[in-house]
Amino acid sequence: MNVREQLVFLLQLQQSDVKVRELQSAATQLPAKLDPLRRDLAKLQGMLDGERAKLTETDNWRKSQQELIDRERDAFKSAQQKLQASKNSKEFNAASREVENKKKSIQDREGELKKVSEASAAGATQLTSRDKDVEGLRAELTSSEDAMSGQLSELHAKLAEATATRDAARAEVEKQWLKIYDTLAAKRGYAVAPVVKGVCQGCHMALPPQLNNILARMESIETCPRCSRLVYRKELLDPKPEPAPAAAEDAKPES
Ligand SMILES: [Zn+2]
Repeated sequence: MNVREQLVFLLQLQQSDVKVRELQSAATQLPAKLDPLRRDLAKLQGMLDGERAKLTETDNWRKSQQELIDRERDAFKSAQQKLQASKNSKEFNAASREVENKKKSIQDREGELKKVSEASAAGATQLTSRDKDVEGLRAELTSSEDAMSGQLSELHAKLAEATATRDAARAEVEKQWLKIYDTLAAKRGYAVAPVVKGVCQGCHMALPPQLNNILARMESIETCPRCSRLVYRKELLDPKPEPAPAAAEDAKPES
C-alpha cells in the first residue's frame, strides 16, 4: 500500500463527495424556487373559478327572474282584459287591484334585475381582465420553467460527472479505509482531516508529538485520538494534491 496515494485518493473521494452532495441539493432545490409563483397562480386561479361560478349562478338567477317577469306580464295582460270585461264595480275593483299589483310586481322585479345585471356585467369585465393577469403569470411560469430545465440539465450533467469522479476515487481506496471513511463521514460529516503545526484541523486538538512524528514518515494512515478522523500532515500532501507522478520543480518564469 502506498500511503501517500491512499491519502490522495481518500481526499479526492472526500472532495467529490462534498461536490456530489452540493450538486444534489442544488438540483433538488432549484425546482422549488418556482413554488411561490405556482402557489400565487393556483390561488388566483381558484379565486377566479369562484367568481366565475358566482357569475354563472347570477346568470341563472337572471334567467329565472326574466321568466317570472314574462309570466307576470301575461298575468298583467289578463288582469287588464278582466278589467275591460268587468261588468260591475265589484269585478272592476278586483281587476283594477290585480292590474296595480301586477304592475308593481313587474316594476320591482325589473328594477332588481337591472341592478343585478349591471353588477354582473361589471363582474364579467373584471373577470376578463383578471383572466389576462392569470395568463400573464402562467406565461411567466412557463418561461421560467423552460429556463430552469436548462439549468437543471446542466446541474444533472455536472452531478453525473462528479459522481463518476467520486466512484473512480472510491475504487482506488482500499476496503479497510473505505469502511472507516464511510463510518466517519456519516458520524462526523467528513472523514479526512489535515494536521497543521501538530494540530488536527478536524477537532483542533494538538496531537501527541509522537503521533505527529509518525505522520511525518507517511508510512501509515493514522487516526486522530480525539475525533477519530484519518489524519495527514498538510504540508506533505499540499504541494501536489493530484497523484501526478512528477511535479514540476523548476518554477516557470513569471510574467
Ligand atoms: Zn481530530
